[in-house]
Amino acid sequence: MTAFWTEPDYDEHELVQLVHDRPSGLTAIIALHSTHLGPAAGGTRFWHYADPKDAMRDVLRLSRGMSYKNAMAGLPMGGGKAVILAGSDKAKTPQMLAAFGDAVGALGGRYVTAEDVGIGEADMVAVSQRTEYVSGLPVAGEDAAGGDPGPFTAMGIYHGIKAAVRHKLGKDSVAGVHVAIQGTGSVGGGVARLLAKDGAKLTLSDINGDRAEALADELGAQTAAPDAVMSVSCDVFSPNALGAILDDEGIARLDAPIVAGGANNQLARAHHGKLLAERGILYAPDYVINAGGIISVTLEYLARRDGTSCDINEVRKRIALIPGRLEEIWRESDTSGVPADVVADRMAQKLIGR
Ligand code: NAD
Repeated sequence: MTAFWTEPDYDEHELVQLVHDRPSGLTAIIALHSTHLGPAAGGTRFWHYADPKDAMRDVLRLSRGMSYKNAMAGLPMGGGKAVILAGSDKAKTPQMLAAFGDAVGALGGRYVTAEDVGIGEADMVAVSQRTEYVSGLPVAGEDAAGGDPGPFTAMGIYHGIKAAVRHKLGKDSVAGVHVAIQGTGSVGGGVARLLAKDGAKLTLSDINGDRAEALADELGAQTAAPDAVMSVSCDVFSPNALGAILDDEGIARLDAPIVAGGANNQLARAHHGKLLAERGILYAPDYVINAGGIISVTLEYLARRDGTSCDINEVRKRIALIPGRLEEIWRESDTSGVPADVVADRMAQKLIGR
């Protein structure tokens, strides 16, 4: 099936579209991995890739991850993703976002976009001026679902870390549990705040050192240099920056019995889940633990599409199901000896008919 195209990360994606708009300078790739369960949903990343091949690799892997994530979150959505290839100056213009909105609109609802790294709520509002197939838009009132997905993603990861601590360390509370957090942006910062409330001991790290320092001051946490955070001796290493950090070298450096965080595509290659398991490290499959944001924006999108409203409590209820899914994966992994990431993939593949 893949013989006509040798991209190693191609996984029978239903559509991979290169978008180029000369007037605005937009170059983007939209990938729809699967629409088996519904329209392909997943965010748009705005990133400067030194090599455009990395953008293709990212979008193919991220869109497959979205198929798995949406299926495992019980959402009636397939999986897709878009990347906008930023220039080295990372300039983002209204014209680019408009052209991107037109490209999403031209897919006629097969793809529903949202925020991801480098794309904020205001950008999604701009995209929504050109197409209705947008989620993660500002919502009216504190009790409505939707808006910035970051806090909801953080909420799911917080629940997932507590489940991992219970499963691996036999502790019902994270009080005194040492969590090293890589990346203190929207997701990592939110996770840190929630854990701090429960009395966890935190080590924070960010390539934006001022950001990590400011949060550490606020929460009474320690900081670690970006190149040191993966070797911090702790109970939980929580990756909340970019993906592919769990490679041979990264895994060898880990000094934690648990890896549980929100970054997408944490495993550099498929065999790295096995390597974690061989080291006795409990791994929370990324797309299962980080589904909180997509749960929120999907319920927001479906409510707007259907002319109804979605209560934030419904979102919270669904996010609270994440620990149960992780438990199911870990139990199956414990009994079968199959690494947790493979168990999760098999469950997800079954759900999307593959
Ligand atoms: P963000 O841009 O708000 O934060 C990312 C942070 O990571 C930034 O502060 C950045 O400086 C830092 N960072 C980058 N490289 C780093 C490194 N090598 N070491 C330490 N820090 C580094 O992005 P976000 O929304 O918090 O997303 C973080 C991750 O979570 C991404 O992988 C994203 O795909 C994933 N994710 C986000 C959501 C969401 O709802 N925002 C949902 C699911 C998954």
